[in-house]
This record gives sequence, C-alpha cells and structure tokens, in this order.
Amino acid sequence: MPALATPAADAERLARLRSNVRGSAEDRPGTYRMITETGEVAYVGKSKRIRSRLLSYFRAEYPKDKAARIVREAEAIEWEYQPSEFAALREELRLIKALRPRLNVAQKRDARHLAFVRITPGRAPRLTVVRGPGAGERGGTYYGPFNGASHLREALRELSTALGIRDCTLDGKMRFADQVELLDMPLRTPGCLRFEIGTCLGPCVGAPTARAYSQQVREARAFLEGATEGPIVRLDAAMQAASAEWQFERAAVLRDKKARLESLQDRFSRLRFAVESLSFVYLVPGHDGDDRVYLVRRGVVRAEHPAPQTAEAWAELSSSIGGVFRGDALPGAIPAHEVDELLLLTSWFTTRPEEMDATVPPGSFLAGPPAHAR
Ligand code: SF4
Repeated sequence: MPALATPAADAERLARLRSNVRGSAEDRPGTYRMITETGEVAYVGKSKRIRSRLLSYFRAEYPKDKAARIVREAEAIEWEYQPSEFAALREELRLIKALRPRLNVAQKRDARHLAFVRITPGRAPRLTVVRGPGAGERGGTYYGPFNGASHLREALRELSTALGIRDCTLDGKMRFADQVELLDMPLRTPGCLRFEIGTCLGPCVGAPTARAYSQQVREARAFLEGATEGPIVRLDAAMQAASAEWQFERAAVLRDKKARLESLQDRFSRLRFAVESLSFVYLVPGHDGDDRVYLVRRGVVRAEHPAPQTAEAWAELSSSIGGVFRGDALPGAIPAHEVDELLLLTSWFTTRPEEMDATVPPGSFLAGPPAHAR
C-alpha cells in the first residue's frame, strides 16, 4: 500500500481494482494474487468462485477485516483459473511455498493443530514434535500427522530415554569419541543431568562413537516404522527382573514407561494404516468439462491426468497408474517436501468426507471408470 497515499487516491485505486474485477473476473475456481506497487506478491488466495471472492474484498470493513487490510496493500490483483476447487487449493499451496507471501505467513490453516514427529538432520539427530503446515521446511524425516502434540512429546521423550538419544537443542555442539578433533578438545562436564543418570549417550561431551549414536537413531526409526520392538522388549525384561528382585516400585515405573512406548507404537501403526489408506484414484469434475484424474499415493498427488476420452489416453493413464502404485507399501516416514501436501489432502478429505465417493482403488479404475465419472 502506498504509505503516503491520500484517502482520495486510495479510494480511486480501490475503485479501479474493483472495476477490473467486475469487468474481467469469472465465477469459477482459481487462485489470485495481491500485488503491491513494488511488485511484491503480498498475498495468495484461492476460491471456488474467483469473481465473488474478489468482490467480497471491497465490501470488507477497514481496518476491522483482514480482507480489507489485504486489498489496501494491492496495486494490482491477478488471477488464474483452475479446473476445480481441489486444483485451486493445490495451486495455492504451490504458490505460497514458492512465493512466501508476507500476508499469508500469519494465516492459520485448518491443519494447524496437527503435529509431526521429526527426526532432525545433522551429526547427532534428536526426536522432536513439530506442528502444522510449513513443518516440512526444516528438513529431516517426518512421521505424521497426529492429533495431540503433548502426548506425543511425552512418548517420544520415553523413546529417547530408552535409546539414549539426546533431546536438547545444542545442535552445533555435538561431537563423538572417534572424531579426530576430539583429541585437541578437553572433555567438559555436561550441563545436563541426562548424561549423568545414563539416559543420554552424551554426544555433547563426545562420550559415544558416531557409530554407536547412529545405531540408536536407526533403532528409533525402525521402532517408529514398526520394524522392531527392541525398546519395549528391553523395558519388559528390566521390569520382569525388577519384579523378581522384589523391587516393585522400580517395576511399576518400568511398567508405565513400557505402556507409553506401547501407546506410541500403537499410534504409529494406526498412522501407517491411515496414510496408506490415502492411496487411490480421485476423479474431480472440472469447470466446463475439464475433468481431472489424480493419482494419490500416501496422501500426496503423484500424477495428474485429464479424464481420458480416447483409447490412447486410457492407455497412458493405465501406464501411469501402474507406475505410481507399483511396489510395496512405502516406509512410514514422510519426505520433508511432502509434509504440507499430506496435510492439505488430509484436511480436504476430512472436512469433505463425501469426496471419498469420488475415489476408487487403482485396480478397479483400470477395469473402467466408475459410473459417476462416465
Ligand atoms: S546429555 Fe548432552 S547431548 Fe544429551 S540431552 Fe543432555 S545436553 Fe543434550
């Protein structure tokens, strides 16, 4: 927004923008961008009906309504049509990730309350919980989404403790016993009780070898992916031993720890099922017959095709389906760059359960399109 614009100049600019929308925009799905006089894309939005949505900006009350504040920054409004609201939503996500518009940053999405378990990258990874859209921008490995970050945190702390994995944020200060530079570096007393009481291997003081620490991180991954029960088995053995020695208080503590890990294991196994069940062919009717077929695997669109009208188009789609859905279930981890799209699709199908009626398993789609798509 021009900082020194007079009220009259503001009114004239808004009238010009509104007249352009009135004269040119159509009521069909699409995305739009609010562009400032310096050319900055300050805001990106999407709508099922672009014209109605854009005109609503001019009815919003300034400064009370966010829409009014956004449009007052705009020197120009641009829009692009999409075949459907679903397509517009995906395009909006792509634009927000690519352009990082300033006024979108503070915006909260439906999926903000959802959390992911993250294994951080770097020399000494740790397990942590991150929330909502944008979570995947920090790199590392992700598992999720989950409801209820606080229970997740508790259970992860238990897993970190069981495996001796750190939970601190001293990311740049980790070192290992087998690293050459350690020879020049006196061991320092850790400022953290976890090393002293033996619940962290202590990479902050170069106590473990790099190999020993990575072995524990590998076991954490395997546990989260359902490939090992090691931490539970060991807690169970310790609990039995404590009971046999009549250390009932210790046995009770170990039983509670084991229960927290079992609950984490259970949540991860339900998660694997839920994410894997977001795998199907999704048929979306488009504006003016621009129907699309989306191949969704593990909550992410892997390929998009126009609805096939000819034998050649069917053959091409069939081959694409074969490629996308080939092979076994993928591991439970979500690549960082897929986190936001997974959240988007989870939210789309959760808030519009009727959309599941437009999905079909890949195998049955190859036998021919469902009745409602013909
Ligand atoms: S012992 Fe060291 S590495 Fe482990 S959590 Fe504490 S400060 Fe971090």
